[in-house]
Amino acid sequence: MKFFPQSIRWRVQLWYVLLLAVIVTSLLVAFYRNQREIKYQVIDRELTDPITRILPQVDKRPQPPQRNRRLPRPGPGPGLGPGDDFERPPDRPQPRREDRELELEKVATELADRGIYVIHWTRRGEVSFASEDVPGASQVRPEVESGGTERITKRTMDGFREVIHTGGPGGVLILGKSIMPLEEELSSLAMRLVVVGVAIVGGGFLVGWFLIGRCLKPIERISGAAHRIAAGDLSERIEVGNPGSELGQLSGVLNETFERLERSFEHQVRFTADASHEMRTPISVILAKSQFALNRERSPEKYQECLRTCHESAQHMRALTDALLELSKVDSGEFILRTSKGQLADLVREVMQMIEPLAEEKKVTIDCSLEDLTIDYDEQKIRQALLNLLGNAVKYNREGGTIEVSLKGDRQGVLLTVVDTGPGIAPENLSQLFERFYRVDRARKREGRGGTGLGLAITKAIVEGHGGSVSVTSELGTGTVFEVRLPGRHGSGQPE
Ligand code: ADP
Repeated sequence: MKFFPQSIRWRVQLWYVLLLAVIVTSLLVAFYRNQREIKYQVIDRELTDPITRILPQVDKRPQPPQRNRRLPRPGPGPGLGPGDDFERPPDRPQPRREDRELELEKVATELADRGIYVIHWTRRGEVSFASEDVPGASQVRPEVESGGTERITKRTMDGFREVIHTGGPGGVLILGKSIMPLEEELSSLAMRLVVVGVAIVGGGFLVGWFLIGRCLKPIERISGAAHRIAAGDLSERIEVGNPGSELGQLSGVLNETFERLERSFEHQVRFTADASHEMRTPISVILAKSQFALNRERSPEKYQECLRTCHESAQHMRALTDALLELSKVDSGEFILRTSKGQLADLVREVMQMIEPLAEEKKVTIDCSLEDLTIDYDEQKIRQALLNLLGNAVKYNREGGTIEVSLKGDRQGVLLTVVDTGPGIAPENLSQLFERFYRVDRARKREGRGGTGLGLAITKAIVEGHGGSVSVTSELGTGTVFEVRLPGRHGSGQPE
């Protein structure tokens, strides 16, 4: 297994986990801060609410009569609406100092039960009231204006939360409470959130590892198959899990490529083996005959016979090497056609004349029906193709047989047909007839100057090079028909 930064799996995994960690951390931190704020708001409200009860008790000045204050009517129901009558409350007698102190003690005791301490400084800066458990730092009067408008500020110091009321006639009033239990609660919440965060990121890592592993499985299969193919096993193929997915399609394309690679490799191996095999026979003949001639003195006739056989074998080798050279040009893309307009019928007649001696030797008669057609073609190459087809028609014909050659034009181009009265070719052999070195009867001794088994392969390459096609039909015991179709608009009699 590869590790970061080589492995795609690790890279994707790392990015995915980083992203997940950032999102989870942000959410959990936001949640924690929100919880903390809510809890502090609750404490602040707890500390702020009693201020209204304490302030009247610590304000030492005479209380003004409560005039012009809107008060709701007593009893249940909604408060006053706009336009309702106002009721001026009767002037109440100002509470006595002792009563105020008593009330303050009562409130302070209630608050102390809830863990809240109170300390108050008069406007002159003297402590007028302080609970027993006021922490040391809070016993120092804060540096704030005690007059002016009333306002409430909050502060946190030394593990205590305090609200400070300043301004107005009441001097400075502080209510405070320890926040240690709250902080403990918050740190326990933080711990739980960390555990939850780690669990989510860890779970995400495992799920991601599994999912990315599943996604990359086809790549591993592709890479494994490619390794085995590179090691020499060309029959290996990639297992295509889901052919519709992108990687499934890639696997399909690669399998097709491997298929072609294997076929071409097999073809190459067979071609090399066949070529060397074909060369070995004439070389062996030359070696045997020359050895025979050199062993001891021979009669002039024997020497002549040896030389003739060596000459024939050398000619066969030359035909073979010429054909191999031609095919290697086809394979390497150097098979260049030099086309020009010409009368195809003239070329057919010329080739028929060339094979006439061979036909006479075998008492084969050639009939022809040729239309005058002008098309674009490479004269030298088409001559070679015609020589192969007509040569075969004579070579594989029976003694005293016939050959019919016809050439006619139609809308698609021209159609050349060569019909012979030879032994015919079995249907199972027809499909391989145009393959290199293929011979229907390999064991059969090659007649005349001997064939190379490459003639039809070259013919096919030439015809297809012209954009045409060649096909064969045959019936055992009756004969064989080769049809060559060449494309192109043609004119009758004179060039276009
Ligand atoms: P070769 O040099 O052996 O003739 P070709 O490629 O021209 O090579 O032909 C391949 C094989 O096809 C021949 O060996 C022969 O068996 C068969 N063949 C070709 N033409 C004919 C034909 N007209 N009639 C019967 N068999 C043929």
